Amino acid sequence: MDFSLTEEQSLFADSVRRFATDRLKDGALKRAHSHTYPWDVAQMIAEQGLLGITIKSEDGGMGGTLMDAVIAIEQLALVCPKSADIVQAGNFGAIRTFAEYASPEQKKKWLPDLLSGKMVISLGMSEPEAGSAATDLRTSAKEDGDHYLLKGQKVFGTHSRDASIYLVYVRFGPGLDGIGSVIVERDTPGFTVGEPSAFMSGEEWCPLYFENARVPKANLLLGPGGFKRQIAAFNAERIGNTARSLAIGRHAYNLARAYALERKQFGRPLCEFQGLQWKFADMAMKLEAAQLLLYKAAVGADRGLPSAYDTTVAKLACNQAGFEVSCEAVQIMGGMGYSRETLAEYCMLRTKGWMIAGGSIEMMKNRLAEFIFDRRFSQRPPKGSS
Ligand SMILES: Cc1cc2nc3c(=O)[nH]c(=O)nc-3n(C[C@H](O)[C@H](O)[C@H](O)COP(=O)(O)OP(=O)(O)OC[C@H]3O[C@@H](n4cnc5c(N)ncnc54)[C@H](O)[C@@H]3O)c2cc1C
Repeated sequence: MDFSLTEEQSLFADSVRRFATDRLKDGALKRAHSHTYPWDVAQMIAEQGLLGITIKSEDGGMGGTLMDAVIAIEQLALVCPKSADIVQAGNFGAIRTFAEYASPEQKKKWLPDLLSGKMVISLGMSEPEAGSAATDLRTSAKEDGDHYLLKGQKVFGTHSRDASIYLVYVRFGPGLDGIGSVIVERDTPGFTVGEPSAFMSGEEWCPLYFENARVPKANLLLGPGGFKRQIAAFNAERIGNTARSLAIGRHAYNLARAYALERKQFGRPLCEFQGLQWKFADMAMKLEAAQLLLYKAAVGADRGLPSAYDTTVAKLACNQAGFEVSCEAVQIMGGMGYSRETLAEYCMLRTKGWMIAGGSIEMMKNRLAEFIFDRRFSQRPPKGSS
């Protein structure tokens, strides 16, 4: 068993860290608090070859591994947390599902702009009445000649404000087998991107309204039953959320550590108070433990085993470690940590979001319980109960 990065991975990590330090360190605080997508940074990151790391080279990607993408996220987040979102959008989210299932024509039409940082894709899954119970989604797609007519609403989509295309989950018919997905272009007749709302991190999302939105059949990604087929892809996708949680927790930890070495109270640096030393010991332990689980899941996925169990455990551990460590960092940095003068509060607010997004920690624990007991526990009321 080897717990270290290979020589090639270490060299890659060094090169991403150098790029991030040279090009992204300045402006990291301002970028985190900006509401708009950092298109300038997206193009820089694309030129660096950090978009489409795991996408096949024949599709314009880098043909790398999931572990490479995790390393890229970690190194960028340690310098500029907001820039790690771009690596996420270009490697893990809707783009990965798209690259996996799109037709050659669809890839030709959209992948070049997505992989060069000129365009971003947003995932439209959640609805006002279908959150954790995602398969309760109601947005319908009815055939109309060579188009589908979409009716419904989506909420909370990351990058929904800035996206040019949307990967939208729709219902072609009843039940789980009735769910599939289509690509909706922003200028589709009958489709409206609503007014932005803000998450507590400042990140904005827009409701998406479909009022008989006319989507060409050529934009079908996965037909009825498609939802089931791509469930395995979700495990790999979750690794991006998991990696950012942990890396941003580590970012906050580094801020607090530097602060505790410099800041003096009672004539001594904060790091000399045992009450704070023990916080750091706990924080380091949580980060190290979660890191091993993340790497185990990512390396396992690269060996063709995207284990739902490993991904679930890693997401839980990294979501919790990232948030708990960021909260402690804010506490250690006192009024400065709680203010927008540093990134500690931003790290805390962002890591909270990933405990809800991509499968909330409660839903992940439900899933884990199913592995533990080797049986399914339906969350639905028993049949016949009102
Ligand atoms: C930062 C962020 C980014 C997001 N990005 C996207 C995106 O890009 N695209 C998209 O479609 N959606 C996105 N979402 C939405 C996200 O997927 C949902 O918020 C999530 O699925 C939870 O749904 P909900 O908010 O409706 O909460 P609900 O499902 O109403 O749940 C409320 C609470 O109850 C708990 N709960 C629900 N059911 C159970 C159960 N059976 N057992 C135990 N606890 C339960 C939940 O864990 C949660 O704590 C994002 C959300 C956030 C916060």
